[in-house]
Amino acid sequence: MLRLDTDVQFVKGVGPRRASLLTSRGVRTVGDLLLRIPRAYQDRSTFASLASLRAGQDAAVHARIYRSRTIQTRTRGRILEVILTDGTSFVHAKWFHGGSTALSRGVAAGRQMILFGRVDRDTYDSKLVFFNPEFELLEEETPSATASLDVGRIAPIYEEIGGLTSRQLRRLIFAALADLSTPLDDPIPPAVRTEHGFPDLQTCLNRIHFPIAGDNVDELNRRASPAHRRLIFEEFFLLELVFALRRKQSQITRGVRFETNERIRSCVKKILPFHPTAAQKRVLREIVDDLKATYPMNRLLQGDVGSGKTIVAFEAVVVALENGYQAAIMAPTEILAEQHYLNAKRVLGPLGYSIGVLRRGIRRAEKKKLFEDLAAGNIQLIIGTHVLLEESTVFNKLGLVIIDEQHRFGVVQRLRLMTKGDQPNTLVMTATPIPRTLAMTIYGDLDLSVIDEMPPGRSPIKTIHATERIAPQIFGRLADEMRKGRQCYVVYPVIEESEKVDLKSATEGFEKLSGIFSDRKVALLHGRLRSEEKEAIMRAFAAGELDVLVSTTVIEVGVDVANATVMLIEHAERFGLAQLHQLRGRVGRGSQASLCVLMTPEKIGETARERIDAMVSTTDGFRLAEVDLRLRGPGEMAGTRQSGLPEFRVANLMEDSLMLSLAQSEAKKYVESEEQAMRLLKELSARSSSITPAGLVTVG
Ligand code: ADP
Ligand code: MG
Repeated sequence: MLRLDTDVQFVKGVGPRRASLLTSRGVRTVGDLLLRIPRAYQDRSTFASLASLRAGQDAAVHARIYRSRTIQTRTRGRILEVILTDGTSFVHAKWFHGGSTALSRGVAAGRQMILFGRVDRDTYDSKLVFFNPEFELLEEETPSATASLDVGRIAPIYEEIGGLTSRQLRRLIFAALADLSTPLDDPIPPAVRTEHGFPDLQTCLNRIHFPIAGDNVDELNRRASPAHRRLIFEEFFLLELVFALRRKQSQITRGVRFETNERIRSCVKKILPFHPTAAQKRVLREIVDDLKATYPMNRLLQGDVGSGKTIVAFEAVVVALENGYQAAIMAPTEILAEQHYLNAKRVLGPLGYSIGVLRRGIRRAEKKKLFEDLAAGNIQLIIGTHVLLEESTVFNKLGLVIIDEQHRFGVVQRLRLMTKGDQPNTLVMTATPIPRTLAMTIYGDLDLSVIDEMPPGRSPIKTIHATERIAPQIFGRLADEMRKGRQCYVVYPVIEESEKVDLKSATEGFEKLSGIFSDRKVALLHGRLRSEEKEAIMRAFAAGELDVLVSTTVIEVGVDVANATVMLIEHAERFGLAQLHQLRGRVGRGSQASLCVLMTPEKIGETARERIDAMVSTTDGFRLAEVDLRLRGPGEMAGTRQSGLPEFRVANLMEDSLMLSLAQSEAKKYVESEEQAMRLLKELSARSSSITPAGLVTVG
């Protein structure tokens, strides 16, 4: 008897060779095999007689090979042509490029075959023909138990696995299901199953592979059958359960707890340089509620580029500091850390706090002093990049952790910074407009606050696509803006800011632009400059002492200079959508109208064009994220890899978002009772079900 976690080699029909083949393709257990669900279904329960075929119809036919030949054509290469008959009539089938090897080796007069596809009329001889139909060569075996797997039913069609054909897989899966020891341990609670009409696991696996007569083929092909829906739900449900449990756990953890009073509230108000937007007020209230609660805050603050997350973070810092705790802000780049530092000094400095910044390349003695002050509690707010994670960074009383642009960090880094305090409150901020579905699967253990409103007085950014041919006109536009006293960014793609970076394009661009704008102040900024140099340049640009900032992508995130109104991106075709959106977010921060120019060569690839079209058509980060998700697939979305996006086997983040929402609410409901949550936690950590989504970390 097989269990889901039994090694695949024990399935009937799997010898050592097939076992190693399957294993090398990630199919190690019976469960792995059974979760390779059919990529399609064909209704072979009734076969059309050849005499009844009409052009334009989709049909399955069961016939005998009458004759076959390979024709060499001048225009279309090798064509395998097979003529079949079922006694009522004849039909042709043609496969271009000679068909698959399995097919061309197997065709022999007299052999039985099943074809499935669209019936066409051949323009060449006006006969009825199937072009490149799905096919199956039948064995001349006496009808056995398994013969009925292929014909006379709704047949599952599988993706080949390492040379194992759909037909072979059908047999292996049939054997595995037949030998499965029952009842299966079903991870979905019966009550949830009943409520949503999901079949139990065993029924589900049987029906998904071998639908029964009367099952809706169209529904099966849309992955919308009850069996499909159940498996999709299950993958999401298990993931969301883990998240729900983690949240439950952290709610019953005692964390750092802050208080607010009249004095603290007035401090918070005092730092505000402007009226907060309604959205900022709302998220601040959500944050403060968390800060005052017994459990540690675990909150994600999402807000599009320029929506004003920083000030909200600073307000939380005030609450922490006024409660006698330390706070840390971690930013992904030196420049952003530097900018936060300058801002913090300006905004928070007047309240008399001691603020430190941890720079890379800081002098040894200075660093030592900084660490001592931090450990002694003399520094109240520390700002830095991932240097903050170093072992030597020790706090006296860390109560608030803020991570800016979380998409640049991984989950591990977030957790590591948190361990520097004793259950500190944590706020992670991101402008990466990840679609909601992704957010739910990556940041599912965080509570979500969203700033969905821009500060008032912003003028829209106009985005244009320009080819290098019209570069002179574009530079003319830049000159116009500068005459009005505005500043410009010009960005070159140096994607990897590593040791062996190729800075050539940015450097050359800098020289070129210095020539073109010889009467203007042009500076070059890149990741390999020393911290002080970078800081000096940024400071000068922010103060309006520079007109053009030529830069690599180091300015991608966070940089905030309201007087800069032009963002010119050279070789825009080489940037990802998220990056383009971030870069564009550097302008449009003041009341003046801004311009973003995406410069590319005449000829660019198709996806690059789609990215650029998307940028031109909208500034809505969430819409762009949806496009990005479509163009790249969830696994490739910026920064999500290291964030531990689980891989789903049946579910699809793009198509199944409704099911994801359902799974999330069911999971939340399920862990509402503490007792139930604890029981589940034990079960989940004890069980090594092969049905859990691959990559899902164990509960801890
Ligand atoms: P992001 O969310 O991208 O980090 P920032 O916090 O850098 O955005 O804010 C962008 C700019 O908007 C900053 O210059 C900030 O001072 C300004 N800003 C933020 N909130 C408001 C507001 N309520 N009214 C006016 N300006 C604001
Ligand atoms: Mg920011």
